Amino acid sequence: MQAIQLFSQGSPEVLELKEIAMPVLKHGEVLVQVDYAGINYADVYQRNGQNPASLPCIPGAEGAGTVVEGNGVLPSGTRVAWLSQPGSYAEYLAIPAWKLIALPEYLSTCNAAAAMLQAVTAQYLCETSYRAQAGDTALVHAGAGGVGLLLTQILKHKAARVISTVSTAEKARLSQAAGADHVVLYTETDFVSAVKDMTQQQGVHVVYDSVGLHTYLASMASLRPLGSLVLFGQSSGNVPPIDPMQLCRQGSLFLTRPTLAHHVADAGSLQYRGLRIFTWLREGILDLRINQIYPLEQAAQAHADLESRQTTGKLLLAVSA
Ligand code: NDP
Repeated sequence: MQAIQLFSQGSPEVLELKEIAMPVLKHGEVLVQVDYAGINYADVYQRNGQNPASLPCIPGAEGAGTVVEGNGVLPSGTRVAWLSQPGSYAEYLAIPAWKLIALPEYLSTCNAAAAMLQAVTAQYLCETSYRAQAGDTALVHAGAGGVGLLLTQILKHKAARVISTVSTAEKARLSQAAGADHVVLYTETDFVSAVKDMTQQQGVHVVYDSVGLHTYLASMASLRPLGSLVLFGQSSGNVPPIDPMQLCRQGSLFLTRPTLAHHVADAGSLQYRGLRIFTWLREGILDLRINQIYPLEQAAQAHADLESRQTTGKLLLAVSA
């Protein structure tokens, strides 16, 4: 089968298309033919060395496709999606059956692959990490990004007020279309002052910060007393250690650094969160924006594009589709 492999960490060119042996199923695993694999920032961290990787490996944690060997656990032909299984940039994937969610008829494998990881992340961020409520004001960085657009839509569904930050006017338009009440171009405007002006100098209830190094201090300064900083990514670089007294001095702030894996660690949580986003997709609460679909062999280009800050919404690899 064809797969993208990583033999060393580095720039996007280290992603190589190879012809390799089909995976061998272990107990409890099924074989899936991958239609689409999702591109995520975590794949970039794994590739560029920001996160450790055991090499060689096949990157990619999410996708959707069809069961071709159910191993007595799932019928062949079942359309499925997943979001926490390494090895998804490949034509076939061996995956424990419990990590799969069967797709409802109304959801294509393309839309499922586009939604799984980023929409479930957005779901847990505003229903577990900080339970957003009507009347809350939330600050969402990278508001036109894959997670940012979905998070904004869920927060608006909960009747929260959303202030987003983006780097370009085109991204501002997209963020607004997703429901953001105010969009700050953080390349031109100091977002802390803008947030204070929009909140009668109070600050926001919660900041969802995936940018990390370049924003985390200003994110803390944007919070009201007892506000929550949900730091969930580091697109601009890793955040250094934070002195707990800083949280105290800035208003008894709450800080959390969640990761998706802990929120889908068992079949019950995975199915609950997956079905929740499927319902939101069916009801039109979530509207997906697929930026670009690349052929498998262009995985390196997809990574370069995501890192360039030029993309919006979701990037996918078309694998067997
Ligand atoms: P995005 O589509 O949001 O792309 C990243 C965006 O970050 C860019 O478009 C850019 O938006 C912004 N950004 C700001 N500074 C930089 C920089 N120096 N370099 C690159 N980008 C920058 O990506 P995803 O939706 O895939 O992921 C968003 C974040 O969420 C990532 O940090 C990822 O790690 C995190 N994440 C965390 C999860 C978790 O469970 N903790 C799960 C899933 C994702 P702009 O130009 O508008 O600033």
